[in-house]
Amino acid sequence: MDEFDFIVVGTGSAGAVLANRLSEHDNVRVLALEAGSRSIPADVAENVAKPANWGRVQHSSVDWEYRSVPQPGLNGRITNEPRGRMPGGSSNLYIMMHIRGHRSDYDTWAYAGCPGWAFEDVLPYFKKLEDQDDDSPLAGRGGPLSCVSARNLNPNPTSEVFLRAAEELGFPRTQDFNGPQMEGAGWHHVNIRNGRRHSTAAAYLEPALARQNLTLADGAQATRLLLKGTRCAGIEYVREGQVKIAMAGREVIVCAGAIESPKLLMISGIGPSAHLHQHNIPVQVDLPGVGETSTTMSWCRSSASHRGMSRRRMATFPKPRSSTSRSPAGSGRTCRWPSCMPIRWGRCPMRW
Ligand SMILES: Cc1cc2nc3c(=O)[nH]c(=O)nc-3n(C[C@H](O)[C@H](O)[C@H](O)COP(=O)(O)OP(=O)(O)OC[C@H]3O[C@@H](n4cnc5c(N)ncnc54)[C@H](O)[C@@H]3O)c2cc1C
Repeated sequence: MDEFDFIVVGTGSAGAVLANRLSEHDNVRVLALEAGSRSIPADVAENVAKPANWGRVQHSSVDWEYRSVPQPGLNGRITNEPRGRMPGGSSNLYIMMHIRGHRSDYDTWAYAGCPGWAFEDVLPYFKKLEDQDDDSPLAGRGGPLSCVSARNLNPNPTSEVFLRAAEELGFPRTQDFNGPQMEGAGWHHVNIRNGRRHSTAAAYLEPALARQNLTLADGAQATRLLLKGTRCAGIEYVREGQVKIAMAGREVIVCAGAIESPKLLMISGIGPSAHLHQHNIPVQVDLPGVGETSTTMSWCRSSASHRGMSRRRMATFPKPRSSTSRSPAGSGRTCRWPSCMPIRWGRCPMRW
């Protein structure tokens, strides 16, 4: 049995940051537990790193490949739910759009009783993590995570035409989706550095692994939270077929993602008692709400096509002059550029 001060379960977008920040204090010992492995096949690693290949990471060995139950709100459809399974978690397969979220989301949380979560409270932390090249007063500079505007990354001309079409239809041009005007169409900021995906593994975890007080256990899946009374004091996990235990003198921090975190709580007996009884799980803490009210994005593919126009020709595409201009139509190439997604998806409640 190993002992640490902090145990971080999951080294995804959240866990990698926590493992880094906690281990900055050299008087604390931190264990970061990750179900996925650090060693992945070279072709998968290349698809993770190459922004244009983001779609190929799904259904690969680093995707948990969840499937939903039939969704009443989607006419009974079952949805694919990709999630990253390697250090860096879903930051290895997300589409790299750097979105802080709307100011009103945070302010609503604070209003609903979460002190410290109003937008003005969290803004310094967003700035702290960002390395932006914008000169906006809201932008963070010099942080670990690269955050560049897609408009500066040799943008796809088809996307620019799309944005002009949106303007023509009366949608405002948004200069910065993390700025004051989120609604509209525009270029996103993306987490890319030197043409490669900048995951939280690269930005936070890998640099921190040089520290003596941070231990990464990869290929190690947490199977149970160990409680002393109603306090979580340690973790049971499986690594290389062996059941192991690690104890935390101070805290166990569960950041296993929106699906695995509530699952880990529930298989540990923390959740709505009636639901746990249904699955013969002994109740440790009756906690209504765990595993419920999940909200996620719905995926829909959009594609644009044009009549055999070259990329160079597209770059010279004139700005539409009137609202009656025809959209480019007919057979042609489909645009799959990472910066070609200026639309935000709607969120819908999901059941598992
Ligand atoms: C396809 C896709 C595209 C997206 N695009 C964007 C985007 O462009 N912009 C944006 O802002 N957001 C995007 N998101 C959302 C974003 O990726 C997630 O919100 C974010 O990564 C979640 O971070 P997390 O730390 O909660 O979980 P994750 O990053 O998923 O990390 C969880 C980690 O825990 C590990 N784990 C799970 N269970 C266990 C266990 N029992 N024991 C040990 N380890 C465990 C996992 O392997 C994983 O590494 C996208 C998501 C997806 C799936």
